[in-house]
Amino acid sequence: MLPNGFAGLDPPPEWPRPRSAPRPEALDRTLDTLSSVGPSLKGKLAKLGLRTIGDLLRHRPRRYEAAAPERRISDLFGSEECAIAGEVRRTSVRRPNRRLAILKARVADESGEIDAVWFNQVWLADKLQPGTHVRLRGQLRRNEFNVRSYDLNGVGATADYAPVYPASEEVPPKKLRELAGQGLEHARDLPDPLPAEVKEREALPLRSDALVALHRPRSQEEAERGRRRLAFDELLVLQLGLQRRGREREEAVAAALGDPRELLARYREALPFDLTPHQERAIAEIDADLAGTVPMQRLLQGDVGSGKTVVALYALLRAVEKGRQGALMAPTETLAEQHALTVEDLLAEVGVRSVLLTSALPAKEHAAARAAIASGEAQIAIGTHALIQPEVEWADLAVAVVDEQHRFGVEQRRALAEGRSPHVLHMTATPIPRTLALTVYGDLSVSEIAKPPAGRKPIVTSWVTEERSAEAYTRLRAHLEAGRQAYVICPLITESQTMEARAAEQEAERLARAELKGLRVACLHGKLPPRERRELMRRFKARELDALVATTVIEVGVDVPNATIIIVQEADRFGLAQLHQLRGRVGRGSEQSYCLLVSRPKEELTDSARARLEALVATNDGFELAEADLEIRGEGQLLGTRQSGLSDLAFTRLRADRALLERAREVAAGLLDYEGPLEDDVERMFGDADVSA
Ligand code: ADP
Ligand code: MG
Repeated sequence: MLPNGFAGLDPPPEWPRPRSAPRPEALDRTLDTLSSVGPSLKGKLAKLGLRTIGDLLRHRPRRYEAAAPERRISDLFGSEECAIAGEVRRTSVRRPNRRLAILKARVADESGEIDAVWFNQVWLADKLQPGTHVRLRGQLRRNEFNVRSYDLNGVGATADYAPVYPASEEVPPKKLRELAGQGLEHARDLPDPLPAEVKEREALPLRSDALVALHRPRSQEEAERGRRRLAFDELLVLQLGLQRRGREREEAVAAALGDPRELLARYREALPFDLTPHQERAIAEIDADLAGTVPMQRLLQGDVGSGKTVVALYALLRAVEKGRQGALMAPTETLAEQHALTVEDLLAEVGVRSVLLTSALPAKEHAAARAAIASGEAQIAIGTHALIQPEVEWADLAVAVVDEQHRFGVEQRRALAEGRSPHVLHMTATPIPRTLALTVYGDLSVSEIAKPPAGRKPIVTSWVTEERSAEAYTRLRAHLEAGRQAYVICPLITESQTMEARAAEQEAERLARAELKGLRVACLHGKLPPRERRELMRRFKARELDALVATTVIEVGVDVPNATIIIVQEADRFGLAQLHQLRGRVGRGSEQSYCLLVSRPKEELTDSARARLEALVATNDGFELAEADLEIRGEGQLLGTRQSGLSDLAFTRLRADRALLERAREVAAGLLDYEGPLEDDVERMFGDADVSA
């Protein structure tokens, strides 16, 4: 009769036998300790990041293949993928040409016989001795059964519901499946650090069972249950570390700033528009934080152009109103200069003195700015991380806004808090899904500006290949001639800023002679002296220039509502978030704006480059793009995750695990003072991120 195990109805053929005590050291054994792994395979596995038995257990299946329905040989029909089972009668090999070898096995079940066919797998012939029991997955073609996967003598489960691992060309999925099966014999060697009462309360399976379920599930549900248990562990450890970090912060004391008063009322009056409900809500949340003495640690996230700067300025003015100081810290000089330009007039209007401090300032100006900060003459200082260098003394810093905070390392964020405890508002225009924000910035509160001010038209994005880029420039010209302004972004050259600058200059000259002849074109790049850069930005803002040819220095923050078209050359070389940022330079006013992405022919692009550009054309929504990015790049490599020094999450699927994350947060809150085996994992995850006080 047929061996069992089909369609997820029966238990898997073998469960690893329980052993008395886990032996965690077994997990550190290298893979060549497995009988089926030799030196060559060992090397190939290493390229997949698989070195030890433990790695194998943590290699999460990317997806599962549905079980194929089982058919009697005489019932085979059409081209449906299905499975047959039977006995081998005889085999034959044919080589119609040099590159092709066809192996055929006559297979019989109680209903009939058929030729099963394998291509270029002649070595299998030896294993298919007459009488061998086989289960084959494949499909009928020209009265033969084309085999896609197979099991011999009842071992393995390729025709069943089966895991598909991230594989490589060198290590096929089937091999990984087999190895994972061998690794599973050590499932019980993986320590289960979760306190027993948590496991019980959360109704979680044993960790070893979860691993078995992950690698050898009988159904999607079973696999998912297993994965969730493993993800829970990860998230719990992450949350525990983050919450402890947060608790340390609560012991610091910041100045309570009371309620907003007259200065803030004047500020609202000075704004040429009303704040949106989203901005108002963010402000209310900030007000609540500032009223207390626990230093604010809030993340303000909102898509590009959603109007975060106004909110940030509000927070800074709260400090000024109380006779204290505010700092606005940007990741690049251009952005700092840009911020200064944007807020200068507004601040002057409400009678607040500000100063710009970047390391690019000439020594004299630098010293003057420092003096103004030290004396309190400067009520708000805008700058780069120059603001938090040891030689900068603050009269009384009470609120700091950190723009594009993900661009700052943990180091710099810590330096900001060094010896002082200001309220800190982190801003990011690279929105990350809320789940992820909670995961990565679990110690921050999150405010979200989910919608831009009303009256904005969605930016129209198109993707053209190089041979059609002339059309893109024709469109650009039409805009400029109608009195609009434009950006042209030069290809990304990563080797050096100098090379990038030179390429941009050449491109600007070329465009000025060709596509943009007769228009006022200037070139903006990171190698320009700050004074020139500021002057360029000012002229562009004042409409004295039609087009800015730029490197990615304009990626963040540049705010010129009359600029309505942006062309990104070699767009395939930029990351998704970066492209979204670049696009966000237009669409800042009420005019219809356009973004043109130029790339090499689609066939020449990598899958992920193509996916990035497609995603960008498909949506303007930063949150959706962040999710797409997650999909394209995988959870482990996220911005922020990398920067905060946290190790990759192997089992968590952030989008699916929202509820689980909330559970982990709650459970972690109850375990803050717990000491036990979980500690080791916290230590491992936060090892270099310094969580222990
Ligand atoms: P972000 O920093 O979030 O990218 P900005 O704060 O630079 O966005 O705002 C983008 C543009 O929208 C700016 O020109 C700003 O003056 C304008 N803006 C901000 N808030 C509003 C609002 N409530 N109504 C109309 N325009 C606004
Ligand atoms: Mg901004």
